[in-house]
Amino acid sequence: MVKTNYKEALKNSVFKIISASAQELGIDCYVIGGFVRDFLLNRGRAKDIDIVAVGSGIALAKKVASKLEGSSQVSVFKNFGTAMIKKGALELEFVGARKESYDRGSRKPVVEDGSLEDDQKRRDFTINALALSLNEQDFATLLDPFDGLGDLERRLIRTPLEPGITYSDDPLRMMRAIRFATQLHFEIQLPSLEAIHTHRERITIVSKERIVEELHKILASQKPSIGFTLLHKTGLLPYIMPELVALEGIEEVEGQKHKDNFWHTLEVVDNICETTDNLWLRWAALLHDIGKAPTKRFHKRNGWTFHGHEFVGSKMVYKLFKRLRMPLNDKMKFVQKMVLMSSRPIVLSEDFVTDSAVRRLVFDAGVYVDDLMTLCEADITTKNPRKQKKYKNNFKEVRKKIIEVEERDHIRNFQPPISGEEIMTTFRLKPSREIGVIKEAIKEAILEGEIPNEYDAAKKYMLKKGRELGLSASSE
Ligand code: ATP
Ligand code: MG
Repeated sequence: MVKTNYKEALKNSVFKIISASAQELGIDCYVIGGFVRDFLLNRGRAKDIDIVAVGSGIALAKKVASKLEGSSQVSVFKNFGTAMIKKGALELEFVGARKESYDRGSRKPVVEDGSLEDDQKRRDFTINALALSLNEQDFATLLDPFDGLGDLERRLIRTPLEPGITYSDDPLRMMRAIRFATQLHFEIQLPSLEAIHTHRERITIVSKERIVEELHKILASQKPSIGFTLLHKTGLLPYIMPELVALEGIEEVEGQKHKDNFWHTLEVVDNICETTDNLWLRWAALLHDIGKAPTKRFHKRNGWTFHGHEFVGSKMVYKLFKRLRMPLNDKMKFVQKMVLMSSRPIVLSEDFVTDSAVRRLVFDAGVYVDDLMTLCEADITTKNPRKQKKYKNNFKEVRKKIIEVEERDHIRNFQPPISGEEIMTTFRLKPSREIGVIKEAIKEAILEGEIPNEYDAAKKYMLKKGRELGLSASSE
């Protein structure tokens, strides 16, 4: 149900202050956009509040800041004619109402002063053009020239102007349409959908950073498959993530088929969203199979294989992040690690699980072993209830084993029980290859379960290994 008590939206005393400031300056002003939309949809109060002034937004911001309690800093962006005030958790953004016309080569419009209605026309969607008056004579009146309210009720994404113009003027709006459809579970009106398809190539003038921002928001939603399905349907996906598009399709040779890895991937992403809010783990789910397109082979004997797709996929993660100008930092490495290891727990769960196999998994995954298990559980998309149950149970067993082994052996944050220095002093060695050999041997013995992960056992083992290498210990 769409809310109707507009006054409630403006309870915060800051709106009274803005109203009084505008009155003093003799200008009209309104709250507009996301704040109004989210209030009406009861989506919790938005933290960024957009105020449009029919006059100078900067002058209004300065006036408001002078009236606010405590010192509040106004940041002025003269080139854009905007100003921002931070007040506690709130961000108030002030802008003068404007009229825009676009140049085809860029997303930057030619701007002139305009009326409230001019300003509402340049908004992307009818549901984002809703404004509430902050003027004394009609405080909290809803100004809705394009029936945005109706669209909130119909749950529809629709543009105020002709969709073709709206999207080709600023192609970022294509991403925003799809992102809002995903976040709000709204439908995109058919002419809009068609216009996005027609103008899809224009996405190439949008910066990668802005595209990624929208992808993050799609992935952070409850059901990201809505967004990726729309990106696919509108033909935007090949411009953004061709690696995913390459996963689509089922091939059949000699009566043998493989599953459609694109639609499978989207299911995995939706699944993982039910169990984690970790954005980067969600990215890992999205990319976990991208290595399958380049590694796909058909063998007469084995049917379809994707040998080494995890390794190839993890290399592709780096290239994809780089192309999309995403940070090449520890987040990227985490996604790579998840992709690289994505089949490991599956292999484990199929057979009788040995302790040493579990220790190796925990050693390699380190602190991310739980995330890896979460990914593998989300990867179960079989529609066969018997298999579904069996796979889930297998992973439950693996999780149990991980806990058991971890309690005993503490492999998760593995620190070698014997340091390289100790090996050097024990055998009076200079930095040399032998030190690495002994260290590795100790680690292997622990992972194999030959010795416990403890200092005394490791020391004994070190001395034995040293003797084998023909070294003599300083105390011997
Ligand atoms: P959210 O903050 O949840 O992302 P929002 O609607 O507030 O949603 P913002 O990016 O904060 O989105 O933009 C604020 C308002 O500015 C929007 O509601 C919309 O009216 C307008 N707007 C933002 N980007 C565009 C755009 N590319 N084209 C037209 N209008 C836009
Ligand atoms: Mg906003």
